[in-house]
Amino acid sequence: MYEGKTTRVSLIGTGFVGTSYAFSLLNQEVVNELVLIDVNKEKTEGEARDLNHGLPFGTPMKIWAGNYEDCREADIVVIAAGANQGPGETRLDLIDKNTSIFKKIVSDVMETNFNGIFIVATNPVDILTYATWKFSGLPKERVIGSGTILDTARFRFLLGDYFNVDSRNVHAYILGEHGDTELPIWSHATIGSRPVLSLIENNESAKAELDSLFEDVRDAAYHIINRKGATYYGIAMGLVRLTKAILRNENSILTVSTYLEGEYGLNDIYIGVPAIVNKTGIREIIELDLNQMEKEKLHHSANTLKQAMQQVSLNK
Ligand code: NAD
Repeated sequence: MYEGKTTRVSLIGTGFVGTSYAFSLLNQEVVNELVLIDVNKEKTEGEARDLNHGLPFGTPMKIWAGNYEDCREADIVVIAAGANQGPGETRLDLIDKNTSIFKKIVSDVMETNFNGIFIVATNPVDILTYATWKFSGLPKERVIGSGTILDTARFRFLLGDYFNVDSRNVHAYILGEHGDTELPIWSHATIGSRPVLSLIENNESAKAELDSLFEDVRDAAYHIINRKGATYYGIAMGLVRLTKAILRNENSILTVSTYLEGEYGLNDIYIGVPAIVNKTGIREIIELDLNQMEKEKLHHSANTLKQAMQQVSLNK
């Protein structure tokens, strides 16, 4: 599908997350064309100029401030537009504002006959990915939310730091809502094939430390927002990772927000689980054999999302 052809990403929303993603795309040589779209056209033009001035130090690509028409030829539309969390605000607090913004954005994109893959980053990401799927009418495989890609990265980073091992050799997932009810899957967390739980067996203080390590993962956004107002570098790199998995047909396993139809005993919901990602979008959902407590926590997380979704209309 993509071999030898020009690849294009249209990015909607050029705030902190969007522009960090754009900068990271440019540095990682992922795509031939990048279109920047935002209600704040002037800022987008400034961002395009600034990014273009980096090209002599990088690899040729076309970057411009565009409009929705430019989504017609896009392989991927990434949405990072909308309100972000203020101090003390949860992700679910953003639901009304961002759902109505999405209704307009997704219909503007679909009017161009866009026929690629959506990646959604705006919060609450699981609900807005569901909304994008509903509003767009695209197959579920082609609407993907960043889900717990960032939370999983935070988890791997902190575990790598704790055990003093390269985080790339840590295999551990965060599942569930990208938010307060997310959960760590300790039963399948491994480092160099050794289960993390076996590394801390009979060590009560290490167990308490790992519980608090997970709390740091779950509350990371609050800690960062209190200090610098927003989080963006980590998610930007996660979005690039996802973009590469699609454009390069990588069949990579990533924890993304994807539509469940019976997997994990859940139905009609977008939520973060591991999935194989390639040029078709979601190739396959990986269903882990969770222990009873993990299953209950995942269901609690799904119920929280479903309840929050009842407050908004997700019809076209
Ligand atoms: P920001 O305020 O810096 O940027 C948002 C941008 O959206 C602005 O440039 C604004 O002009 C634009 N926008 C608003 N309404 C629009 C519309 N109708 N059409 C086009 N553009 C519009 O915010 P940010 O820090 O970049 O965060 C963006 C979103 O990403 C927030 O919802 C935030 O919570 C979310 N986020 C998600 C993750 C994740 O892991 N998924 C991590 C960090 C932030």
